[in-house]
Amino acid sequence: MPWPTLIDDPVWKLTADEIDRQNSALQLIASENFASPAVMAATGSVFTNKYSEGYPGKRYYGGNQVVDEVESLAISRICELFGAEAANVQPHSGANANMAVYQALLEPGDTVLGLSLDHGGHLTHGSPVNASGLMYNFVGYRVTSGDERIDLDNVRELAKQHNPKLIVAGATAYPRIIDPAPYRAIADEVGALLMFDCAHIAGLIAGDAHPNPVGVADVVTFTTHKTLRGPRGGCILMSEDLAPAINKAIFPGQQGGPQEHSIAAKAVAFAEAQTPEFKTYAAQIVKNASALAAAMTAEGFRLVSGGTDNHLLLADLRAFDEELTGKEAQIVLDEAGITLNRNTIPDDPRSPFVTSGIRIGTPAVTTQGMTEPEMTKIAEYMARALRGRTDAGEVAAVRADVRALCEPFAPYPDL
Ligand SMILES: *Cc1c(COP(=O)(O)O)cnc(C)c1O
Repeated sequence: MPWPTLIDDPVWKLTADEIDRQNSALQLIASENFASPAVMAATGSVFTNKYSEGYPGKRYYGGNQVVDEVESLAISRICELFGAEAANVQPHSGANANMAVYQALLEPGDTVLGLSLDHGGHLTHGSPVNASGLMYNFVGYRVTSGDERIDLDNVRELAKQHNPKLIVAGATAYPRIIDPAPYRAIADEVGALLMFDCAHIAGLIAGDAHPNPVGVADVVTFTTHKTLRGPRGGCILMSEDLAPAINKAIFPGQQGGPQEHSIAAKAVAFAEAQTPEFKTYAAQIVKNASALAAAMTAEGFRLVSGGTDNHLLLADLRAFDEELTGKEAQIVLDEAGITLNRNTIPDDPRSPFVTSGIRIGTPAVTTQGMTEPEMTKIAEYMARALRGRTDAGEVAAVRADVRALCEPFAPYPDL
């Protein structure tokens, strides 16, 4: 039977529109990146057709000889990249990876310490509307009100007071280096396990720009699609002794059949991250964020913690314009072709839907080849669009300038 030809399906028109959007506008969402054509080809490969419940060598269905090889390759590459003893590459997402670790290490109702959501923690670190917060007793630690860095004294105090079974390190909106060593010391003091969720910074760690938590934390979880620049998905690194419980918590605990097309694409991305070019890339992400921080400060924004040493900045908009909310800034900037997200700042007086801040990340613009001079322009365009936000002509003029800036850096010029 011939394959149906659906070339006129509206999906292809929408795909073309999305390619144009990604090629012609600035993608500054800190959790996003551009996957390579090789990663996208693997994601669209025939591995999508296979059912492979189980693990290499122990599958429930036949026909998994080739799949076993591709999954084993992904595992050995990521273990080599991070120096880990064991890995599970099957999590469909970062959220699944975290929930599986909780399921393996905790009983419902157990106490866990995590960074408060309004201070940069992730939904899966105990939000009351997330399964993590519904099933476990999360206690939130904070950043200091002075320098806005993670308050390790507060972590220790809460650990002594609440005796958690697990301490979670890692963040989704925090612009500074997270050193795993003091967390380990605190976990040891109270006899807790330590999980490091490095979703945002996995690529910075792989590229040697940030400290590696493997060997310090008991378990390390991450997403493969943020700074690591692979397909959408999750991954868990662990010691040999925790591997049986964690593997069981992924399958059959949390998931059914693994998505072997994504696992093939993870294997491709892990090989890309092993190259010397990837180290240069990771270093440039950080340099670009620093350049953007300097230029935004010069434009009158206040940066949470005074700057950045990773891939993201959190800007407090009140210093720039007392009236401007994160919500309005996100909408105006999107119209100007500058895509980023509103974000609470520590102790934000506004609600999480309105916010006083925006989060800005450099992984995607760095992938497309932009360097420090473009960061200065991006800050200038942001400030122009926000100052001129009531003038449709000015916002449209910035959109045209953004398009011109992006043209020589289009990530997918041939799509
Ligand atoms: C993005 C993120 C996750 C969740 O990843 P998803 O793939 O969106 O489920 C978990 N933890 C942290 C810290 C993150 O930044």
